[in-house]
Amino acid sequence: MTDTSERTDAAVPFAELVEGLRDTFKSGRTRSLDWRREQLKGILRLLEENDAELTRALAEDLGRPSTEAYAADLGFTKAEVGYVLKHLAGWMKPKRVMPGLTSLPGRAKIVPEPLGVTLVIAPWNYPIQLLLAPLAGALAAGNCAVAKPSELAPACSAALARLLPRYLDEEAVAVVEGGVPETTALLEQTFDHVFFTGSTRVGQVVMEAAAKHLTPVTLELGGKSPTIVAADADLDVAARRILFGKHLNAGQTCIAPDYVLAEASIRDRLVDKLAEAVEEFNGGDQRHSPDYSRIVNEGHHRRLCHLLDTADGTVAIGGEVDADDRYIATTVVVDPALDAPIMQEEIFGPLLPILSVGSVDEAIGFINARPKPLALYVFTSDDRTAEKVIAQTSSGGVCVNHTILHIGSPNLPFGGVGPSGMGAYHGRTSFDVFTHYKSVLAKPIKPDPKLMYPPYAAWKEKLMRKAM
Ligand code: NAD
Repeated sequence: MTDTSERTDAAVPFAELVEGLRDTFKSGRTRSLDWRREQLKGILRLLEENDAELTRALAEDLGRPSTEAYAADLGFTKAEVGYVLKHLAGWMKPKRVMPGLTSLPGRAKIVPEPLGVTLVIAPWNYPIQLLLAPLAGALAAGNCAVAKPSELAPACSAALARLLPRYLDEEAVAVVEGGVPETTALLEQTFDHVFFTGSTRVGQVVMEAAAKHLTPVTLELGGKSPTIVAADADLDVAARRILFGKHLNAGQTCIAPDYVLAEASIRDRLVDKLAEAVEEFNGGDQRHSPDYSRIVNEGHHRRLCHLLDTADGTVAIGGEVDADDRYIATTVVVDPALDAPIMQEEIFGPLLPILSVGSVDEAIGFINARPKPLALYVFTSDDRTAEKVIAQTSSGGVCVNHTILHIGSPNLPFGGVGPSGMGAYHGRTSFDVFTHYKSVLAKPIKPDPKLMYPPYAAWKEKLMRKAM
């Protein structure tokens, strides 16, 4: 029995909600391949039939251009769900394995089973993708789920709350809208898995709450993702690809390049190339470009202005801000102070500090002296340099000679390491993360040798020592 004595009042309706989902799970209907496929197809239909409404909601919440709305939220999620749907039947099959010498005779297998009732908590920056992609994993694995969209993307949150019950099994999936009080009350419930995407700070809150129930967590967190530009990099391409990662959603991307470590000999040329790329991307007028997003709200706009004001470096590109329009230009700050907030906190906006390093080795040392990042980027034309960076650093993922794109491959698990997260998803790992792999050994009734049973004897131990 769960101790409910310390529960808040807000938790009471959620207790009933989770109980209802648990009843559905216990009924066993979420386990069948047909049910799972129906839910995944439901998500695909939801995305297809409501493309215009969801694109509008993304524009309302984030000023998101429709191309980015499709590439990073709607189309991205469709590709992920489609991949899971295609492979699901194979992933669900129990796998026969060799039982091992000491278990002979016998048959061994690994049986994937759903966990139960799961909780998926999403952030605001890719509000559709980051709720629906993990939710698809939970349903593909045969679980029930509570989906909690972000209150900071209210139009998307409202659209998802209205649409999801129309396309999914309402007795197996519930949407809870709200912010800190609602999430806190939800976390008082007992779940079988909590999948959280958001900040490292709130990740700690979630893990602490889950620990009370010994509930396992997946934490998809953030941090400062560095970009190394070696002297031998193609600077035209590097500038465009770094800017691509920083321009997307105005830098409000967990794997946006946070700062650049450029070898000193090419630092100034890289800044010039970035300036050219900013012009090119925005037709010379970023302020009025239809392809450039806005900062999500006033609070984050203020936070970013503070990072810029206290950077203690040289603004080489951009610098324009407009609070009324929640606009901040792509801004490159050369040589900010290392103890300034812009070099201490995750930026999560369109500000890009650039620091000079004497060598790639120095850049590796700089990165290793800081918390393990979610993503790491290296631009070089020498494979050995890239391999050295991969071998000598630790990060959730690496993309060589580009930014962001490693998130899109269904064969690459996506997740952090250390303070940038724990666990991973996408493709097969989306199924794995919501699945318990149950080990099963089946023994025949006969023979039943007495070797392992007491009374023990020296000859039995001798034999055992030979076998094991
Ligand atoms: P956040 O941590 O503030 O909020 C995330 C979710 O947690 C929201 O649904 C919110 O309602 C809830 N929440 C907020 N405070 C809470 C509290 N005290 N207790 C319980 N729940 C709480 O994050 P955000 O601002 O929405 O998103 C930005 C952060 O998310 C950045 O750090 C970014 O790097 C990270 N992020 C990571 C990934 C990834 O895949 N690793 C993807 C997107 C964003």
